[in-house]
Amino acid sequence: METDPNRWPGLTEAVAQQRLLDEGRNELPSSKPRGVLGTALDVVKEPMFLLLVACGALYLVLGDWKEALLLLGFVFLIMAITFIQERRTERALEALRDLSSPRALVIRDGQPRRIAGRDVARGDVLLLAEGDRVPADAVVLDAVSLSADESLLTGESVPVRKAPGEGDAPDAMGRPGGDDLPFVFSGTMIVQGRGVARALATGANSEIGHIGKALQTLIPEDSTLKKETGRLVRNLAILGAAMCAVVVVTYGLLHGSTAESWTQGALAGITLAMAILPEEFPVVLTVFLALGAWRISRNRVLTRRIPAIETLGAATVLCTDKTGTLTENRMTVARLWAGGSFLELEGSTAALPEAFHPVVEYGVLASQRDPVDPMERAIDDLGERALAGTEHDHAAWVLQREYPLSRELLALSRVWRSPDERQVEVAAKGAPEAIFDLCHLPEERRQDLTARVLQMADDGLRVLGVARAKVPPDGMPEGQHDFAFEMVGLLGLKDPVRATVPAAIQECYGAGIRVVMITGDYPGTARSIARTIGFQRPDSVITGPELDAMDDDTLKARIRDVDLFARVVPEQKLRLVQALKANGEVVAMTGDGVNDAPALKAAHIGIAMGGRGTDVAREAASLVLLDDDFTSIVAAIRLGRRIFDNLQKAMSYIFAIHVPIAGLSLIPVVAQWPLLLLPVHVVFLELIIDPSCTLVFEAEEAEQDVMQRPPRRHDAPLFGRRNLLLSLLQGLCVLGVSVGVFLYGRDVLEAGENAARGLAFATLIIANLSLIVTNRSRTLSAIRSLRTPNKPQWWVLGGGLSFLCLVLFVPFLQDLFKVELPQPLSLLGCLAAGASSVLVFEAFKAVMRHRGATSTR
Ligand code: ADP
Ligand code: MG
Repeated sequence: METDPNRWPGLTEAVAQQRLLDEGRNELPSSKPRGVLGTALDVVKEPMFLLLVACGALYLVLGDWKEALLLLGFVFLIMAITFIQERRTERALEALRDLSSPRALVIRDGQPRRIAGRDVARGDVLLLAEGDRVPADAVVLDAVSLSADESLLTGESVPVRKAPGEGDAPDAMGRPGGDDLPFVFSGTMIVQGRGVARALATGANSEIGHIGKALQTLIPEDSTLKKETGRLVRNLAILGAAMCAVVVVTYGLLHGSTAESWTQGALAGITLAMAILPEEFPVVLTVFLALGAWRISRNRVLTRRIPAIETLGAATVLCTDKTGTLTENRMTVARLWAGGSFLELEGSTAALPEAFHPVVEYGVLASQRDPVDPMERAIDDLGERALAGTEHDHAAWVLQREYPLSRELLALSRVWRSPDERQVEVAAKGAPEAIFDLCHLPEERRQDLTARVLQMADDGLRVLGVARAKVPPDGMPEGQHDFAFEMVGLLGLKDPVRATVPAAIQECYGAGIRVVMITGDYPGTARSIARTIGFQRPDSVITGPELDAMDDDTLKARIRDVDLFARVVPEQKLRLVQALKANGEVVAMTGDGVNDAPALKAAHIGIAMGGRGTDVAREAASLVLLDDDFTSIVAAIRLGRRIFDNLQKAMSYIFAIHVPIAGLSLIPVVAQWPLLLLPVHVVFLELIIDPSCTLVFEAEEAEQDVMQRPPRRHDAPLFGRRNLLLSLLQGLCVLGVSVGVFLYGRDVLEAGENAARGLAFATLIIANLSLIVTNRSRTLSAIRSLRTPNKPQWWVLGGGLSFLCLVLFVPFLQDLFKVELPQPLSLLGCLAAGASSVLVFEAFKAVMRHRGATSTR
């Protein structure tokens, strides 16, 4: 099959763009984004909203217009905040969806070009390959063993064969299903072969567009974190409701059971409910993960399944392909072997000696014209340089037949006819063992050649054997084995290691992550590359055939000490994943082909290649690497750990700050003091301070040791007992200090209710801001944290302090918040008291630092 753009000119860019304008983009009318009304409806369903409205109504009953209006004003604020959060999350997810949507290879302006599936226009010439999703309804113009899975449209899971029709291609689509028809359909999958097709219908005009079934590319999934948070929220909500009821009843009874006392009691109860309501937890989780996905995408890694972000930080084994991920996949022919001697090509510009012409000649004949495969491109380039103008240049020859590479035989053959029809040549190339097989070499010749192969492999070269044959008189045989092949020589291809890989591997080792290389290449080549990139155990290798001979238990035991797997076919990756999982590892696995999909699905984190990966692999994976680079995976792991850390920090903070808020609304009721925190205070703290803190924690940089500690246990809860206790302790300290300040103001300074409340409120705000700073790091002191850059922090600190000043100094707000301006000296006291409320946690961190320092010594 020819993919020559001259034969299939395709559209020009200008025509394509015009068609996209006229006929619309190639996308299905997806579910409309929720409108303002939908979002408003969601807000109304929020418990916080209902509480605020209830509170406002109570104030109206009490005749407190100002308070009622203020609270209703907050209603608009929460609507705005919810709206902004949702839009932000939505937009981050949308951007990801766009990026992870299928890509299409088309010919535009006579050049093959990879574009987004939605940019395919009617009339575009599509190049289809195994693993692609067909981007539009199209008619097949040419094909090699092309078959497609059309189960999406027909429900029939057996792949259907596709073949170009005789004569001119039809210009109307037929129906899906049925073998040997020339039609392929948008959304279906090419499971085998290659083909060229012309798009006839796109977008809503396609078969799948008629059915109106949207292809989902981002799969929503409940993660363990989400479940855990759900449980936490439920428990806190039950606790809140119970305490709320207790408060209402206690207050009502204690204050003489009048209508007035019950209304006041209800107000106190609702205040407490607002204080305990754990609505931030799920919000924080959604926002952190969505923004996390966005952050990871800036490292050229797309997240297709959000829960993968939390698993990333727990990964213990990273299984990676060699070609293209660890190496650049930019091959050059570095060495030749023919007629008993080697020829070094690297750095040499001398003309190719005649004795080496055939190995290049047949290498070229065994490759595609204008090849895409980097190996074939290297051979083709060498051919152009060395053979142009010689009698070994066969640019005018016509392809007769092709025998593809298979899992059983790692070699392929192509049959060519000269223009004068006098010569027919068969050229084969492939893994040396496979070529030796095809040539039926005697044992000693085979051993001799194997020694040459080893010599090249030891230098990190990928070795291909090249062979030639004549077509037997009785015509073209069924399989490659039926030709009488004759050995021509060996090609050694060099694929440079990516420069950043050795450092990334060391980073993995430092982070307690094992790196496993899985390759289809020769064991010697794998070993040499492993040594170059600094593998800890580059010597022991298990090969695909050995793997086949092993039972699961042996594999499970052996896989503990072996990091190299060579001559492995994609189907075997699944067994490797399962063996690793059986050993309790958390597995990340890369892959690109159709056959990699099961392993990608089975791994905890499946990572597909965006550059050379197929759509099947991408759809099975949870992450997609846009640049196929190993270093990006490590960067994503680092980010995953950071995101998880920050999530933990934010949750700790939120939990901690709720303790004093709840305590300050509860204690006065029980102790029969005047109410200390009124709804406005709670709402202010909850609605303004909390969400903005989320921004601070979300933006927090990774701790210095993120990649120097072992992976987090996969099943470790986000909020273990230790964290819970630490948070509780932090919260109790703040509560104690605030209550202390209130009592001191009331009883010692005899300042009056509003002045004492002002002092307590100021202390609480300062303590709150201190809590944020101290929770930013679990290792650094608060002072160090303050000096570590974090932009939102300054907004929150500045905003919080300015607002506190406004409340204390502006009479109108003083009135609303029921506070009085305290003495300057006592205000300073609040500042000190509030800041000192986090000293316990600071001391704890200092002890841990000290211990860490002595234990690593
Ligand atoms: P990797 O895991 O390194 O990407 P592959 O699975 O792509 O390896 O290839 C495995 C082996 O199959 C190669 O080492 C080579 O011997 C053979 N092979 C792959 N592609 C071709 C090709 N286009 N022509 C000949 N042989 C090939
Ligand atoms: Mg490959």
